Amino acid sequence: MTTPVRIPFNRATLVGKEMAYLTQAVEHGQLAGNGPWTNAAEQLLQKALSMNPTLLTTSCTSALEVIALSLGLTSGDEVIVPSFTYVSSAAAFSAHGARPIFVDIRPDTLNIDEQMISAAISQRTKAICVTHYGGVACNMDVIGPLAAEHGIVVVEDNAHGLFGSYRGVPLGSIGDFAALSFHATKNFTSGQGGALVVNRPASLENIRMIRDNGTNRSAFERGEVSAYTWKTQGINAVPSELIAAVVLAQLEQRIKIQERRSQLWNRYESQLAQWANEHGVEMPTVPPECESSHHIFHLILSDQWCRERFITHLFNRGITAVSHYEPLHNSPMGSRFGAKNGQCPVAENRARRLVRLPLFYDLSDDEQAVVVDAVISFNSF
Ligand SMILES: *Cc1c(COP(=O)(O)O)cnc(C)c1O
Repeated sequence: MTTPVRIPFNRATLVGKEMAYLTQAVEHGQLAGNGPWTNAAEQLLQKALSMNPTLLTTSCTSALEVIALSLGLTSGDEVIVPSFTYVSSAAAFSAHGARPIFVDIRPDTLNIDEQMISAAISQRTKAICVTHYGGVACNMDVIGPLAAEHGIVVVEDNAHGLFGSYRGVPLGSIGDFAALSFHATKNFTSGQGGALVVNRPASLENIRMIRDNGTNRSAFERGEVSAYTWKTQGINAVPSELIAAVVLAQLEQRIKIQERRSQLWNRYESQLAQWANEHGVEMPTVPPECESSHHIFHLILSDQWCRERFITHLFNRGITAVSHYEPLHNSPMGSRFGAKNGQCPVAENRARRLVRLPLFYDLSDDEQAVVVDAVISFNSF
């Protein structure tokens, strides 16, 4: 058997003017952040999303940390998160004093089960941080009003869902705040990077200060004060202009990138449907009110052993397919916060059975055909 060229799970690529913008940013000489490249990227995001203020950050995690600090959490305060999400959806809040309360996911979309949120709300609940898994929205029709009724802040961890929508409304513009990621694994990337969308305008100046070490430096830069000083708790989450230049170049190509991802995603769905149906393999669910950002194409196999055989089968054919999150309630940190094994059975079950197929902007048609053939040739159920 000839070894084919390996097809990675993900490959971050240049898509437009990244190198030209980087050169210009260096030549401009102001590298530290909050300069023209940052402004341009922020303006683009603002126009593309909700017109609400959007600030670049060093990562999605740091955006979530800034949000956490803005909540003024005190010991014993609680933040509700799905168990099936990335560590930082919980860790960003726990690092600033909150106890994460883990809620199970829906078996179809793998998003937080909105019907189970009520039972997790207590007097101490300050926020719900939801993740739109794979870029398919959570049930915001239920989550928004429920949070409003209890005076709880809604944070969208929108690391997956940039340019996806819910009932036509862009993801990231629905909650009080949203965090975006430009990590190398995401649809748009600067290696590391992120953004914070402020949909509650009254919080903007406070959020700016928290992102800038708790100082009013941005008011100083606007010429509103003659010196800046330490005003509140904060972290340094301002990215450099070099990061912003790359983010801008990537975002300018958003139509091209999202169209290609959508094409690849739809092709997986149509070409694998019959095989999946015949073998009881589940494919992603996208409710009609959701427009996906096509961040992930996953399959759910019958059990963990079948999933491992499937990953090996693809690996032997030169393809890297990968599992995803270990449920947070089962992690060592989860148990430190009192979470119990078995508490989120759907998350545990899906985490064992889920596998993600290669999906990235420059995955070629030929490469995808190799993946599809390899998947369809798997019959060790
Ligand atoms: C990638 C990811 C993050 C973290 O993003 P960074 O930019 O690496 O901090 C947070 N939440 C989710 C759901 C993610 O997928």
